[in-house]
Amino acid sequence: MQLKDPVSVLKGVGPKKQAALKRLGIETIGDFLMFFPREYQDRRSICPISQLKQEQPVRVRAEVELVVKDPYRRGRRQNLRLLVKDPTGKLEIVFFQAGYLADSFKIGTVYDFYGKPTVNRGRMQMLHPDFSKQEQGESSGILPVYPLAAGLTQKEMRGWQKTALSAAGEIGEYLPADLVSRNRLCSLEYAIANVHFPEDRKPLLQGKYRLIFDELLALQTGLLAAKNASSSGKKGIVFSPGEKAEAYIMGLGYQLTSAQKRVTEEILSDLSSGNVMNRLVQGDVGSGKTVVAEIALYKAVKSGFQGVMMAPTEILAKQHYSGLSKSFASHGIKVGLLTGSMGSKEKRETLRELAEGRIQILVGTHAIIQPDVVFHKLGLVVTDEQHRFGVNQRTALSEKGENPHVLVMTATPIPRTLAVILYGDLDISIIDELPPGRQKITTRAIDQSQRNACYDFVEKELQKGRQAYVVAPLIDESETLDVKSAEELYQELSGRFKGVQTALLHGAMKQQEKDGIMERFYNNEIQVLVSTVVIEVGINVPNATVMVIENAERFGLAQLHQLRGRVGRGSHRSYCVLISHNPSEIAQQRAQIMAESQDGFYIAEQDLKLRGPGEIFGTRQHGVPDLLLADLAKHIKILNDVKQEAQRITEEDPLLESETYSGLRRRVIKLFGEDFSLRL
Ligand code: ADP
Ligand code: MG
Repeated sequence: MQLKDPVSVLKGVGPKKQAALKRLGIETIGDFLMFFPREYQDRRSICPISQLKQEQPVRVRAEVELVVKDPYRRGRRQNLRLLVKDPTGKLEIVFFQAGYLADSFKIGTVYDFYGKPTVNRGRMQMLHPDFSKQEQGESSGILPVYPLAAGLTQKEMRGWQKTALSAAGEIGEYLPADLVSRNRLCSLEYAIANVHFPEDRKPLLQGKYRLIFDELLALQTGLLAAKNASSSGKKGIVFSPGEKAEAYIMGLGYQLTSAQKRVTEEILSDLSSGNVMNRLVQGDVGSGKTVVAEIALYKAVKSGFQGVMMAPTEILAKQHYSGLSKSFASHGIKVGLLTGSMGSKEKRETLRELAEGRIQILVGTHAIIQPDVVFHKLGLVVTDEQHRFGVNQRTALSEKGENPHVLVMTATPIPRTLAVILYGDLDISIIDELPPGRQKITTRAIDQSQRNACYDFVEKELQKGRQAYVVAPLIDESETLDVKSAEELYQELSGRFKGVQTALLHGAMKQQEKDGIMERFYNNEIQVLVSTVVIEVGINVPNATVMVIENAERFGLAQLHQLRGRVGRGSHRSYCVLISHNPSEIAQQRAQIMAESQDGFYIAEQDLKLRGPGEIFGTRQHGVPDLLLADLAKHIKILNDVKQEAQRITEEDPLLESETYSGLRRRVIKLFGEDFSLRL
């Protein structure tokens, strides 16, 4: 068996199983080995029934005393109940709707049951345990538990994985011996064997460490090599130092906050340093990042270059376009717009003006990355809401100029340590101050009983001419059900609010449809927007003063904060109402934090405390490739070791071109995707 063999070489894998495995991303034996358990079941010891603890999964070895099916009822599958005993006590075991299992158990025979005890009416139960006759098959040891797809069983996965392991010997060492020994890494083969079928806790941890180390090393060296590739031997454009951007700042009609001033200084000094700027600006919702980018764009144009600003959605791009057109018109600077939905004639015209340099600043969606978009002389690239874009997209845009400066803006507050790693190739500026005179958004957490009163209040705001957002309940991550609940809410509210337009927006709609609705909301042709959580980040409708969030207990703090940031953007007093349908303690704490603070960094910190890091820093949303095992927040310590090695490696071999690092290079490309190799 070889790593590159298709999974169909495994016994029992026919076309159906093959298709099911493919859904898990497993096509070859090699893929199988890199498909890791979600958790483990430690079945090495047997727990006496008298010592069972709630919610702690264990193995019980017990004799079956009674096998009972619930009474037969038409149209319903029967439940099966067992009473089992060991020398220390008795336990009830329940299989819901699984009466057919009755024949699997013989009274007086001893079985092993593995499961999580729960308490029901004061009695200990085990629901749906794994079971096997004593001394049969896989009942002991530390067993892997794999994520499954429909049509696959845990037993099959374990069996196949065991067979696949015979090919693990083929995986040679690809890292230099000194690096391996310096970091006390075990061999890759040992790691893989023990992560699937650990002999013990310690080998499992060693194995995991090695695999996580490798993954993070590929991530870090990849980021550093990409940075080297984009700036190696190339000097940054020096923007005319004489041009101070004062003229632009003077014309703003307001004073920059001192945080904005500081960040502007940092940017302007990058722009005339002779090096290529690679800077991330982090700032809370409404902290005024756009104007900072505008100043940089102004400077680029005044120095004879073009600038570009990329936004993640059409509606945001359009919003930026209309804002920038206005601000730059009085300076005689022409701004253009390019999005995917534009007609081809319009698009051709824009592309021509861009190539001729008549459009000096281009605003658009990722349509800007297309090969037919050619600049006359691109000097500055700005991306807004960076976490929606991947590293690849960022670099692709830069390649439209000769080493243009890069400015990245994000409203997702990330603790500094983590940001340094996630954006390993960027310098970081933080706008940690809101413009003066921002009103506090009155925030209330209520329960169902006050729901009616809440919508009465919304109606009053509507009568005053304001607009409102209503976020529909989230339902267990199922998009279809979310849409259904949003539709119901929409029906209810459009019946209730007379004389205003209510509209529904959900994730299953076509982009064009969504944009149309957002645009009408923006223009106050729609007054109440009911939506699933698709409300675009960064959308700015100053006349909207109420944000109602149904099912608020299901949202994380960071998300609640982002949603609330949609209101309080104009001169009217604004409100945020969190309706909890089933408030848990943690939901109450969250509501409390929301009511007491409006500071995104503070809220992010609290979120971290309440939820733990894993859930918050989903790497996807930061544009970092999917990691199999590593967790950027949990593995900070490994990450620091890895960073040092990555630095050492890329100093020695900036683009990973030597034989020594060819294996690492392959891993980097595998992690970031094929088109990444073009940039190395
Ligand atoms: P974000 O950081 O969320 O992108 P924006 O750049 O959209 O924030 O700014 C939000 C609003 O604040 C805009 O209407 C902008 O004109 C305004 N603004 C920005 N800076 C200042 C300032 N220093 N004083 C007053 N208003 C400001
Ligand atoms: Mg913004």
